[in-house]
Amino acid sequence: MTEELAIKTRGLSKRFGLVQAVDGLDLEVRKGEVYGLIGPNGAGKTTTIRMLLGLSRPSGGTMEILGRESSKAGASLRELVGFVGEDQPMYDYMNVTDCMEFTRSFYPTWDRQLALRMVEIFQLPAYARVGTLSKGMRSQLALVLAMGPRPPLLILDEPTSGLDPLARRDFLSTIMGEAIGPEQSVLLSSHILSEVERIVDRVGIIARGKLLTVRDIDALKTSHKRVRVVFQGEPPAAAFKHPAIAGVERQGSSYLLTVSSDLEEVLAALNRHPLFAMEVLEMTLEETFVHYAQDSRGRSASENR
Ligand code: ATP
Repeated sequence: MTEELAIKTRGLSKRFGLVQAVDGLDLEVRKGEVYGLIGPNGAGKTTTIRMLLGLSRPSGGTMEILGRESSKAGASLRELVGFVGEDQPMYDYMNVTDCMEFTRSFYPTWDRQLALRMVEIFQLPAYARVGTLSKGMRSQLALVLAMGPRPPLLILDEPTSGLDPLARRDFLSTIMGEAIGPEQSVLLSSHILSEVERIVDRVGIIARGKLLTVRDIDALKTSHKRVRVVFQGEPPAAAFKHPAIAGVERQGSSYLLTVSSDLEEVLAALNRHPLFAMEVLEMTLEETFVHYAQDSRGRSASENR
């Protein structure tokens, strides 16, 4: 039992035939944090979440949710975990208000004020039939229904994928500003990094079913730097040999380097060559993510050789 973690998996794996969708995942979501699980298409995010929710049986490994071994916890966990996914089935024949009332009847902890406030923020039509709502409105209603009971753990699987940019912003700021209390933990999967950046505390980057890195969001943003350098003439191959230079890309007459640590040392080493110009650039989270994803692709290609 691990009380301080909302989610803990060890060696979690799922294989579909020849596809290793999730590959020995050790995932830890702390109580009270918003954790972003980010990765490209097919990385294994949805498969991981389906296993956490008990909708898919792991091929291997263990899972604990809110300190309980999840295969044993069964139905009791369902009351403690709110879930919003893509294209979730809903009671299409009910109207929005009836749908909320119906859901409320299952949850003694239902927070009516919160649910009404969210409906108002999203401007959901209270008496429209759920089946007639747009994709974005359905996602918003799904969030209201998931948040209403104030579950200690909220799992969101790419919840904003059907929303326009304005609705996306409303959706996420509602989660952060209105819905999430300090005692609640959130696992949010996404590949829209600019959004994740705004709301998560920590981020886990997943690719090919493996967790490549887990970082505090601020540390991740500052962990890698880009250096643009223009040499006088062709640089010798040794110019890029420093172990902290994780990538080199030629762009016309300049070189764009990805530097993973020891920035001062790298700059000093580059300065030993005749240069026209050198500048240090911040890496966006998007670029950092692409760097990790490409790195893992390169590594797995060389492992397969
Ligand atoms: P996306 O961002 O595109 O939704 P994801 O990170 O959620 O991707 P998953 O949906 O978990 O990725 O898929 C991981 C891998 O497992 C993919 O190669 C996918 O084709 C495969 N996969 C997922 N579900 C099944 C299934 N039911 N049967 C066979 N293969 C599956």
